[in-house]
Amino acid sequence: MPEKSLFPNNPYLNAVETLKHVSSIIGLDSNYLELLQTPQKVIQVGIPVRMDNGQIRVFTGFRSQHNNARGPYKGGIRFHPQVTEDEVKALSMWMTWKCAVVNIPLGGGKGGVIVDPNQLSESELERLARGYIQALHKDLGPNVDIPAPDVYTNAKIMGWMLDEYEKLNGDQYNRGVITGKPLSLGGSLGRDTATADGAYYVFTTLADKLNLRPGATIAVQGFGNAGSIFAKILFEKGYKIVAVSDSKSMAFSARGLNIPALLEHKRQFGRLDTFKESEDALKNSDIFSLKVDVLVLAALENAITHANVDNIQAEILLELANGPISPDADFYLYKKGVKIIPDILANAGGVVVSYLEQVQNASNYYWSKAEVDQKLSQIMREAAENCWRVAETYTVGLRYGAYITALERVVQAMQDRGW
Ligand code: NAD
Repeated sequence: MPEKSLFPNNPYLNAVETLKHVSSIIGLDSNYLELLQTPQKVIQVGIPVRMDNGQIRVFTGFRSQHNNARGPYKGGIRFHPQVTEDEVKALSMWMTWKCAVVNIPLGGGKGGVIVDPNQLSESELERLARGYIQALHKDLGPNVDIPAPDVYTNAKIMGWMLDEYEKLNGDQYNRGVITGKPLSLGGSLGRDTATADGAYYVFTTLADKLNLRPGATIAVQGFGNAGSIFAKILFEKGYKIVAVSDSKSMAFSARGLNIPALLEHKRQFGRLDTFKESEDALKNSDIFSLKVDVLVLAALENAITHANVDNIQAEILLELANGPISPDADFYLYKKGVKIIPDILANAGGVVVSYLEQVQNASNYYWSKAEVDQKLSQIMREAAENCWRVAETYTVGLRYGAYITALERVVQAMQDRGW
């Protein structure tokens, strides 16, 4: 059992801890460390929304703009009851690293609103989305800061936000201000599956290097946008997915689950454990102790901490979620020889296709799905190869390989700007 982290539940302090470790490996000038520890700007707003019953409720929203040395701030907007300022700050810092790892010309930002969107009617949700833009539009723009969907936000919400932004700015077509939009408003083909597609390209690029054999067993924690699409891709490619969990339950079958059928079951009944192929009544947290080749983490932050890291039996962990392993647990797993495909590499496909969406918006010319896929595949495969090479050069794990790659690129841009 590892020593408990000083900051078990604070993703921002965890993010800073990792940054400090990596800085010490590459001997980073302390002035750059000082600059990179703190977001350049963090905005908190009160968003008044008239609810359907006529009462006004004020929701707290955030936008954190971590670093724009390599390009405009870029990052999603999360609607979730547990959003905190520190969570948004951490996510914005991870976006800086993520964009740099895949070498796209964007910086790091992130937004959030403290709200349980399941408690809102559709019209309340629309007023909240428009209110977020009313409160923050002066700090956004295609060359300033570009939001996108994240947990509990989607293309429809991005459509409302784009409409509000364009109205407030008085020019009708400013589509590059937001990505993950509906196709009718300048969205890109392939954006909806981009995170999972990107993870698949990384996974297959690294499979040989990680000694992943055909017939490998896989478990997926989190069955939302990212996790369910990734599970479906793996299933279609012939991988054996033996377990899938969500916030309520888990489905398990040693013979392998039929993922499209499980998705349909979840759509109909809202749970996984009642799926007919599921063999055992296991709790969702049991997914961590399964003896599988690959455990995919696709739920939220801090899924694995000092409290449950001892249970992990998987040989490879793939982080589709952001920050699902706390630094103390990460260190312990690394020492134990568990291979980790880190979030800033594994889930960067979403932001890559967001970038491709912006490029299409800027030129007002739209690519086929095959063209988008080809570009995504090339960017993700190159990034995975590069992180592997850097990790070998520094004799560190793949996470630090990715961080070193990112940090060196961001610092280069800061130096070239004379910061
Ligand atoms: P989502 O809300 O669609 O899915 C989250 C899933 O996690 C849900 O199935 C939920 O039931 C499950 N979950 C919550 N608590 C759980 C628990 N204790 N045990 C098991 N499952 C649990 O969100 P998403 O868009 O799929 O995002 C998931 C993660 O991936 C987040 O960290 C997000 O930041 C990251 N991510 C998503 C994208 C994207 O394009 N969707 C891109 C990059 C990163």
